[in-house]
Amino acid sequence: MFIGHFGIGLGAKKAAPYLSLGTLFLAAQFLDLLWPTFILLGWEHVEIEPGITDMAPLNFTDYPISHSLLMAIVWGALLGGIYYLVKRQWTGAWILGLCVVSHWILDLLVHIPDLPLYPGSSIDAGFGLWNHKVIAIILEGSIFVIGLALYVRATQAKNKVGSYGFWALILFLVFIHVSNLLGPPPPGVKAIAWAGELQWLFVIWAYWVDKNRVAKEKEASPSPA
Ligand SMILES: [Zn+2]
Repeated sequence: MFIGHFGIGLGAKKAAPYLSLGTLFLAAQFLDLLWPTFILLGWEHVEIEPGITDMAPLNFTDYPISHSLLMAIVWGALLGGIYYLVKRQWTGAWILGLCVVSHWILDLLVHIPDLPLYPGSSIDAGFGLWNHKVIAIILEGSIFVIGLALYVRATQAKNKVGSYGFWALILFLVFIHVSNLLGPPPPGVKAIAWAGELQWLFVIWAYWVDKNRVAKEKEASPSPA
């Protein structure tokens, strides 16, 4: 899953307008931001296997540090904990932690059983919607569109960066998503990992555009005549 995770980050802005979209993207996509580095370090492994699912030509042979349920909760607690230490704000900390764990839940829906419950677990989970292409595409697309609608309703642009910069980010995410769907299998594991590292760009881009948008004021109640 790719664009659906960003949909969660966008939608969470409605619940916590004080959190930057960059921080929300970091949380919602945290497991997939760690994963390429762990692949490059040789701590986790993936194989290219066209046809293993209808949608993704990847066999996630082992990725317990980034993608086990237990570690997703640990990463969520870590990110939420750091936020709490810096900002002393529980709600924001919880929302960030939940965004991190949401990544595992969304992956659970689409992956075939390859998501371990904890490092060393012999039970791998996954409901396999990637073998039901239409359902998977509609599900992921809907999460993104709903998240986008929530974000757009919760914020407004202060300037051109906040409007054009934001919509360019959204279009770029959609472009990458469609290229993943229609493009050929990746040429090699290193290429997947380095492409994965480029996702940090979306986090930085999101910080930048979010700074140039502002949370919408609630409708002012009419002042008594
Ligand atoms: Zn993932």
